[in-house]
Amino acid sequence: MRVGISIGAGVVFVGVTMAAIVTGQSSRHVLADPPQSPSPAQSRPDTPSSTEPKHPQPPAATERAEERARMVEQQIARQRLGGRPIKDQAVLNAMRTVPRHVFVPKARRRQAYDDSPLPIGYGQTISQPYIVAMMSELLELKEDAKVLEIGTGSGYQAAVLAHLTPNVYTMEIIDPLFERAAGVLRKQDYGAVRTRRGDGYFGWAEHAPFDAIIVTCAAGHLPPPLWEQLKPGGRIVIPIGGPYEVQRLVVMTKQLDGSRRSTTVMSVRFVPLTREE
Ligand code: SAH
Repeated sequence: MRVGISIGAGVVFVGVTMAAIVTGQSSRHVLADPPQSPSPAQSRPDTPSSTEPKHPQPPAATERAEERARMVEQQIARQRLGGRPIKDQAVLNAMRTVPRHVFVPKARRRQAYDDSPLPIGYGQTISQPYIVAMMSELLELKEDAKVLEIGTGSGYQAAVLAHLTPNVYTMEIIDPLFERAAGVLRKQDYGAVRTRRGDGYFGWAEHAPFDAIIVTCAAGHLPPPLWEQLKPGGRIVIPIGGPYEVQRLVVMTKQLDGSRRSTTVMSVRFVPLTREE
């Protein structure tokens, strides 16, 4: 199968056939399957106290707040073609707060709150906002959870996670992206996020075990080290599938007896997980 369109990190495909995908529709309008998962349990009670910000506001949060509010209302918190609404109030608050525009390259800032992934250089992309919110919700983070992200990219997903827990670890394989993301995170007061350049296939053993792991690039299989670094009771959210094809967004939970349970949530398209030479 030849796929003649750009690959976005984290784009949900909405309502057209594979034929439309291969013939090159704009990727953000493409979707293979309706979501298959039951609505996941909400990790936080929907009470006023749960909506109070715990992480300080980043300096750029004063800019373009209305656009973010609109993004949440129109793209994320409401039913959409091929996707259920995101309900976790802490996730929605994080999406309203994190200044997405400072995480994208200057030339893309105007489009920062569009319903689509965007190029961030080096052939990589920042995921569609809806996908960032969906994956954040699927992690079901408790307040003090330790979470590992593979694929820092722009640093945006890591910043969203920083509003959900103080214990965020993120790894990026491409050096200049790693440097840029680490710089933006620092500048926006996300200095508590631990960043590391390296091949995330091997995870981050020094800080294991993790309550949750989020992989924001597509892998042909779950890297075994990531499974080993997950606590019993923990969960991994990962796009599974080959490069240049539609992948499955999968939630894998480690049962207390160490066994694995997997649920496919939806069809997505991510840039591939690459390996160090
Ligand atoms: N989460 C990012 C978007 C991810 S794009 C954001 O919020 O902007 C996927 C990223 O995964 C790319 O930056 C790519 O370089 C990185 N990546 C690919 N393979 C990797 C690996 N083995 N280890 C760490 N990062 C990897």
